[in-house]
Amino acid sequence: MLQFDNTYHRQLPGFYTELMPTPLNGARLLYHSEPLAQMLGLDSTWFEGDKSRVWNGETILPGMAPLAQVYSGHQFGIWAGQLGDGRGILLGEQTLSDGRKYDWHLKGAGKTPYSRMGDGHSVLRSSIREFLASEALHALKIPTTRALTITTSDQPVFREQPERGSMLLRVAESHIRFGHFEHFYYRQQQSQVKMLADYVIEHHWPELQNESDRYQQWFTDVVKRTARLMADWQAVGFSHGVMNTDNMSILGLTIDFGPYGFLDDYKPDFICNHSDHQGRYAFDNQPSAAYWNLHRLAQALSTLLSPEQLQRCLDAYEPELMAAYGQNMRNKLGLARTEENDNSLLVELFTLMEQESRDYTRTFRLLSEVELNSPICQLRDEFIDRSRFDTWLKHYQQRLKREELSEEARRMNMLAHNPKRILRNYLAQEAIEKAEKDDVSGLARLHQALLNPFDEAPEFDDLAQLPPEWGKKLEISCSS
Ligand code: AMP
Ligand code: MG
Repeated sequence: MLQFDNTYHRQLPGFYTELMPTPLNGARLLYHSEPLAQMLGLDSTWFEGDKSRVWNGETILPGMAPLAQVYSGHQFGIWAGQLGDGRGILLGEQTLSDGRKYDWHLKGAGKTPYSRMGDGHSVLRSSIREFLASEALHALKIPTTRALTITTSDQPVFREQPERGSMLLRVAESHIRFGHFEHFYYRQQQSQVKMLADYVIEHHWPELQNESDRYQQWFTDVVKRTARLMADWQAVGFSHGVMNTDNMSILGLTIDFGPYGFLDDYKPDFICNHSDHQGRYAFDNQPSAAYWNLHRLAQALSTLLSPEQLQRCLDAYEPELMAAYGQNMRNKLGLARTEENDNSLLVELFTLMEQESRDYTRTFRLLSEVELNSPICQLRDEFIDRSRFDTWLKHYQQRLKREELSEEARRMNMLAHNPKRILRNYLAQEAIEKAEKDDVSGLARLHQALLNPFDEAPEFDDLAQLPPEWGKKLEISCSS
């Protein structure tokens, strides 16, 4: 028996509209995440027969109290006013035996009062893209919402053309966004801002509840979590694509996967969202976009904290980002100690990679195999400007010699931080095209390959190859 609570429903009246999901006609379960099912204590009976109707919103389980959350946000730098769950329904909060709670959120569950011009639906390709990206990030140890199930249906959903309708069951400790706070702040409902902050602290920062400076400590931690999330995205080469404040999680999770992309060639100004003409959310702008978003959140908290207090919280961002990013990159370079010139070593590698359009993931993976005393390595063959690479390699090897770890230990550490496989756009695309013909084998295999991205796993070597030229040029539309 699964246990469901609904604290959001009970404690935050006025923060949502109660409503039931609208099931899709003739829907069936297409795929589910077995590791996540196990974490949630769901056995195989949940994924077959009558019980699986829950994934299409047909069955509501005891204890659930379905609702659509209201929030607002800044989109591409502009105040957009009320947004809210336009097609998502928070079904309830599963309580695990150890007390942890997880929101079950059904995305693509039909119109809500917040649908605006939208139809309340999701299409299969966008459910698959969200499923794969959140599972991939989780396996890379990056905080993210997760995805449990994908359903598909023959009911057409109209985008540029008719497509298959779909629902995704998303799981997260919370779906509260920066935009939830902004919503009540801009409506001048300051007691609601406080209620929401108290709710979030009660459930997610309970250790702060009795502290007199709890809002300050809490917001500082939100700032730090956001900084660490950016450090993680940058280190793995992940571009979110739509970092609007309504897509920023208060817990520092990656949330709302649209036209995201993982870097193929190292291109610091990579833009994955082809509607982002200014490059506001370009890869190398992500840390500053998040900082800007944190300022919008600070504004929304300005009745809880003074301008000086807010500034002190925000001041935690840069040091946290630099420390976390520095640590991530030292892990990728195999440097356990810190030295003054480490940054120039990294910058010169990035310059070489950018100049020669080298693949981000593959370069670091091959770097893990560099030997201390040999000028020959597979990575060298990747570069055309050999003399520049050789100069860099010599510096790198000299630097490695000042490390205390054995060569083998360093290699193992690096292989554990430099994934062999990442979710390339073209791989997702191939899995989607098969799944649209009711063949989930590609999706299942890609999912398996991404669950342990650091393992050599030669059986998945075809999924660790460089992308074909067409795969680098795929344009991912915003429509989902
Ligand atoms: P996103 O950019 O996907 O995070 O969405 C921004 C806003 O648009 C959110 O309020 C979504 O709930 C809403 N939205 C996106 N797609 C749809 C849709 N098909 N129907 C209704 N609302 C949608
Ligand atoms: Mg969103």
